[in-house]
Amino acid sequence: MKIDFNKSKDGLVPVIIQNNCTLQVLMLGYMNKEAFLKTQQEGKVTFFSRSKNRLWTKGEESGNFLLVNDIKVDCDNDTILIKTTPKGPTCHKGTTSCFAEETTKGFLYELENIISNRIDTNDEDSYTNKLFKRGINKVAQKVGEEAVELVIEAKDNNDELFINEAADLMYHYLVLLKAKNLSISDVESILKSRN
Ligand code: AMP
Ligand code: ZN
Ligand code: ZN
Ligand code: ZN
Repeated sequence: MKIDFNKSKDGLVPVIIQNNCTLQVLMLGYMNKEAFLKTQQEGKVTFFSRSKNRLWTKGEESGNFLLVNDIKVDCDNDTILIKTTPKGPTCHKGTTSCFAEETTKGFLYELENIISNRIDTNDEDSYTNKLFKRGINKVAQKVGEEAVELVIEAKDNNDELFINEAADLMYHYLVLLKAKNLSISDVESILKSRN
């Protein structure tokens, strides 16, 4: 991978960190060549900290490491984009992202992940897992029921009830996709291809 560490006098390149599943932007840091090589070798993100003036492995104190899934360089090789699996909140103030949570567009993907985890770990306390185990016909039936409830609320003038039914439908729809071994991105592909 070709990265232009000499474009800036201090030898640092900005690095955008994203969540691999949700694509949420988690933070921005800087790397010199050494930090970049260490990141590649260890599979977890090491920056060069301008305030500490040394290599800084994100999570070295907190344990909230950023495990590397994918590394990309921009069009003119002077900015790095890394997709990661964070081991905990990325911001030292305790939030998922260093930027306002409202910047998230990917909560549905996060929810899709949570649903998958509940099922794949056979979580006995989880409603999702219990529903899933009742079989695909039951899940599909729930989607039908929630859709009907949504239609009923659409006729009334109560946004509060309507939006809650919309949420119920979306959640059950995600469980149904999982039961069919499909995901949101499969549906997205179809929608994209129609444009
Ligand atoms: P950590 O790397 O998570 O073990 O945190 C060690 C120290 O690095 C913290 O006490 C902060 O000073 C700093 N730090 C951690 N995360 C961030 C961040 N996302 N942005 C800026 N500074 C951070
Ligand atoms: Zn660039
Ligand atoms: Zn922060
Ligand atoms: Zn409902």
